[in-house]
Amino acid sequence: MTTTESTPTKFKPYSRQTIVAARQWQWLTPELQEAVQVVSHVLPFRTNAYVMEELIDWDKVPDDPIYRLTFPHRDMLPPHEYEQLRDLVLDKKDEAEISRLVHRIRMRMNPHPAGQMTHNVPRVNDAPLRGLQHKYKETVLFFPSAGQTCHAYCSFCFRWPQFVGMEDMKFDARESSELVSYLKSHPDVTDVLLTGGDPMIMNTRSLAEFLEPLLAPELGHIQNIRIGTKSVAYWPQRFVSDKDSDDLMRLFEKVVRSGRNLAIMGHYNHAVELRHPVAQQAVKRIVGTGATLRMQGPLIRHINEDPKSWAELWTTGVRLGAIPYYMFVERDTGPREYFSLPLARAHEIFQEAYSMVSGLSRTVRGPSMSAFPGKVVIDGVVTINGEKLFALQFLQARNPEWVRRPFFARYDPDATWLDHLKPAFGRDRFFFELESGGPLLGPGGRVIPLVPGGQRGNDPQPDAARPGAARPDAA
Ligand code: SF4
Repeated sequence: MTTTESTPTKFKPYSRQTIVAARQWQWLTPELQEAVQVVSHVLPFRTNAYVMEELIDWDKVPDDPIYRLTFPHRDMLPPHEYEQLRDLVLDKKDEAEISRLVHRIRMRMNPHPAGQMTHNVPRVNDAPLRGLQHKYKETVLFFPSAGQTCHAYCSFCFRWPQFVGMEDMKFDARESSELVSYLKSHPDVTDVLLTGGDPMIMNTRSLAEFLEPLLAPELGHIQNIRIGTKSVAYWPQRFVSDKDSDDLMRLFEKVVRSGRNLAIMGHYNHAVELRHPVAQQAVKRIVGTGATLRMQGPLIRHINEDPKSWAELWTTGVRLGAIPYYMFVERDTGPREYFSLPLARAHEIFQEAYSMVSGLSRTVRGPSMSAFPGKVVIDGVVTINGEKLFALQFLQARNPEWVRRPFFARYDPDATWLDHLKPAFGRDRFFFELESGGPLLGPGGRVIPLVPGGQRGNDPQPDAARPGAARPDAA
């Protein structure tokens, strides 16, 4: 792959309304065109000329991974819903009926998984702070309003309500003053994550308005500023050739000079995203400022279930100076039946990819579920006393005492999320359910406690392992 004269340097987005003007649109069959037009009423669609020209291999459509990643597909809706919507969109063209049906379909898709709207929002004087989430003690998430879109949309994205005008489902902040006052009164917070959408959609001046207040001396407890972004893959020109890309590098340097760690949390889905020279140059420019670049992304059926792609991605990233960080399990939202893989398969893929890379790439963790109680990683499949089990642990948790306590669930070849799993050893609850006084109903499922005080539970034999309790015979 090389940068050529045809590699776009000017950002040109495409949406449902404008995609027909792209030359590649004519290369799609009528069936594929119809699917894009119909399904994109429910799931937002946006791509750009760089993705179209450089990342999609049109000879392999519809199976090309980046095509699958960015274009909506018929199978993302059950057949009866697709037919109903198709009929309304293409034949009856009844806008009111279309929006009623679209809303109904979206609401059954668990638009805010992991309690995002209800459980993580900090409050001051009992009023919720819009655009902030405080899920883990040391980390605050901040959603600047100008960063609530992306250079292209991922068809699996759990942030999709942000993009589709579901006003009551949005959380974003117009400016950073509330964030700064909140941080001043929370000296335990060491990390701020700017997220979206994609904050790197902002120009450098707007981004500076959010970043620079965080460098104030009275916020000396903020040690790490993270920016979650997919622009490293969808529009790496943001760091290389956009007209303010040099200013952006100066801004990164300024944050680093303040003594903070600036961590760019780069979202990559497939090795192809890092094959292009401009994407490689973006990595080098970012790490050249003294910032770190961590690589993370979800494991998604139809897109990146190939261990070789992960191994190539991590290896290339390490060579360029990036740090492999997370392989996530696809979240329980949106068209997840289309994208999800069983946890057992996710574990196999991770193991296989991990075994192909050198120690420098083994900073990666996974497969990890960002679930309501915390980030749960599948460590292995083990047999204890003849019972086949998943070995799990929290990498991050609402209750810090849960972190890194191994626990076990009955092996289930079909389970795709934490709340499908049953505790091992004949118990009816996991240790974290017991410690929070019983299961609450989490979004979309059973289990899922919130533990404000971190009370110790009274299970005489919690399934969190004690030293010597488990002898993993396979991993
Ligand atoms: S870039 Fe990130 S926020 Fe934007 S659509 Fe993709 S996964 Fe969602």
